[in-house]
Amino acid sequence: MDSSTLLEPHTVVGLPTAPHVITRGEGVRVWDTEGKQYIDGVAGLWCVTLGYSEPRLVEAAAKQLEKLPFYGSFNHRTSDVTVALADDLAALSPIPMGRVFFGNSGSDANDSAIKFAWFYHCAKGRSHRKKILSHHRGYHGATTAAGSATGLAHIHNGFGIPLPGFLRMHTPDVLSTQANGLSDEEFVDWLIDELELLISQEGPDTIAAFIAEPILGAGGLVVPPDGYYDRVQEVLTRHDILFIADEVITGFGRTGSMFGTTEFGLRPDMITVAKGLSSAYLPISAVLVSDAVCDVLARGSQEIRSFGHGFTYSGHPVAAAVARETLAILQERDIPGRVRAAAPVLTNALDKFLGAPLVRDVRTYGLLGGVEFDAAACGMRPGEPGKELVTTAAEHGVLLRFAGDTVVFAPPLVSTDADLEEMVDRFAAAYRTFLSAHGVTA
Ligand code: PMP
Repeated sequence: MDSSTLLEPHTVVGLPTAPHVITRGEGVRVWDTEGKQYIDGVAGLWCVTLGYSEPRLVEAAAKQLEKLPFYGSFNHRTSDVTVALADDLAALSPIPMGRVFFGNSGSDANDSAIKFAWFYHCAKGRSHRKKILSHHRGYHGATTAAGSATGLAHIHNGFGIPLPGFLRMHTPDVLSTQANGLSDEEFVDWLIDELELLISQEGPDTIAAFIAEPILGAGGLVVPPDGYYDRVQEVLTRHDILFIADEVITGFGRTGSMFGTTEFGLRPDMITVAKGLSSAYLPISAVLVSDAVCDVLARGSQEIRSFGHGFTYSGHPVAAAVARETLAILQERDIPGRVRAAAPVLTNALDKFLGAPLVRDVRTYGLLGGVEFDAAACGMRPGEPGKELVTTAAEHGVLLRFAGDTVVFAPPLVSTDADLEEMVDRFAAAYRTFLSAHGVTA
């Protein structure tokens, strides 16, 4: 299939080859134009949590399309299903969150949360608090503000971002050279010293918020060391810096809890969610905003008589209906419990790669998995082993992604044990092909 009219996202523009085109999905599997079947090891883009053929989601969309296909939520008018979804999310929230704002993507949720932090500080008479802290290798989206918070160069290159005032902290990655030879506790001390230094150099009264993923996804599946977020939160609270938890990947069961916030004991002022909120059947995102922040937003907004933020499709009724049904299914079927039960299956399967040739590390958490390769040992440049491995994996019938040198697994949360084992078996076959292509014997 030709793609000369499609400006493909996150793809080098003008590639001479045709894109790989997927036409059909069922359960955890998808099929391409050639009729070839794949296990989807990354649930689309970490998002199709309930698999590709959940009839209840299709029915929820169809019913809402018939009843009210659209109404907006501006100027104090909205739709019943939008309000109901806000209620559902507020009730499900891992810590009390007074209000819910709706968007359409993870990026716009994070842009919104950053703007809310700015509005919050302006309303408190501290409009000089504009700077945003985030992690090197954190991924928060590709729009202007969220893309500036993202700590990955390929998101910035050519676009003239990050905008000024977006500050970067070291990745809490125990495999990074800075952690070399340190215990986890010592590495956390090092990270916190770095954070304190950054804040004192910049001036605490210039910093609005810190945005972070509980587990860094696109930055290479980084699980921070124990106690890291407790210490970070202590520093943020002391300096009155807001904390935005980006749960776009970790939200809705992926970690074995409904939210990563619970798993890591976070106390965020705002939580951003997208992807799993609707199992990706329709685009929808949300910012959950704490009572304390809402109170200030309300006060500020009443003073200036406006709150000039929102999108035509904020709280889109059809997306909201699908999200409500998704939340119902997640709870009725105890999907987080299923993830906790399935996690050891993924761990056992991936642990077989521990110590295997060219493998640097294996990590799992809930239904997230990563096999990190040693690019230098592969005789390749950083990023190259992952790219080659996921291409080979597709040939072997499993769709995966790579983040840096890590091949990432984020299968649908409804994967059976057999699906998970088959997914890893297909990857293992690709790995053997990779090894022999590089003249390495297993
Ligand atoms: N935050 C995180 C943690 C993400 O993983 C992503 C997308 N992979 C985003 C934000 C951006 O979401 P979207 O692509 O829907 O804008």
